[in-house]
Amino acid sequence: MTNLKRLWRRRKALTTAFIAAVGSFLVGVTLPIDLRSNQPEPPQTQVVAVSQSQVQKPNSNFNRLQQAIGQRVEFSQQAIAQLQENRFNSSLPSQFRGITLRQARLDPKHKAIALTFDDGPWPTTTTQILDILKKNKIKATFFWVGRYLQTHPELGKQVANAGHAIGNHSWNHNYYKYNEDGAAREIDRTTSLIEELTGVKTSMFRPPGGILNNGLAAYAEKKNYAVVMWSADSLDWRTTTQSLTENVMRQANAGGIVLMHDGGGNRSRTVEALPDIIDRLRKEGYKFVTVPELLQMEAQNLKQQETAKK
Ligand SMILES: [Zn+2]
Repeated sequence: MTNLKRLWRRRKALTTAFIAAVGSFLVGVTLPIDLRSNQPEPPQTQVVAVSQSQVQKPNSNFNRLQQAIGQRVEFSQQAIAQLQENRFNSSLPSQFRGITLRQARLDPKHKAIALTFDDGPWPTTTTQILDILKKNKIKATFFWVGRYLQTHPELGKQVANAGHAIGNHSWNHNYYKYNEDGAAREIDRTTSLIEELTGVKTSMFRPPGGILNNGLAAYAEKKNYAVVMWSADSLDWRTTTQSLTENVMRQANAGGIVLMHDGGGNRSRTVEALPDIIDRLRKEGYKFVTVPELLQMEAQNLKQQETAKK
């Protein structure tokens, strides 16, 4: 069984167990609430009496209640599954905290790769990229600029709700030198807004322009973020659709992290190239995962190697 399959099964098993546990809890919690809401100002004893008689003699009122409860539980289960999925996509193994990385170290036969999109959320192109990813059933990783997220909070929520992983790409996307206070403002403020809007507490930081020596990356490492660079640069911000595709294909490898942009300017070429990039990588045998998932695969590999040595 490949690592990816194992990871996928683990995700499924986790989600199922979680839903089962919380679902049964919710049935217990929502049942009395629904009964109460259908009784105008019911004293406590009356609720019990009514619910007992309804259980003994089912009637249409009770069926309606059952239906309402069923719908509510189903809705909650969906919400929980989504939350669980989001959490799984963004949890980062501890050994990658506080370091800078360019890709995951995987066995070359484990062809997993992570698509990443920087400088959003951005009108139109973020939505177009979300649509392409959804159509291809792919989870990707988005590194947001705080002030763009502040301008387009609904777009940000859409990305997070679709189950993609989220990283911090600073508040202003400047290339200045920062002292620690300045770096803290750029990074902390963005992380707070991401959490406030999406509930995701990100532990990934990508420095604007990939600059590692202007104070931002140092602060991020100190605060235990994984500083996530890339191994395949599409150069989509300055080249043609065809050559950005070739850039990705030439540099793609197992464990690779691909840099593209959904925001920060006109990204129509990225949108145009993406379906072809996905098709071609698939034909070469690649599976698409988020950056945290890619690092979870590396962590799992290491664990297996250690067990094998013992
Ligand atoms: Zn950027």
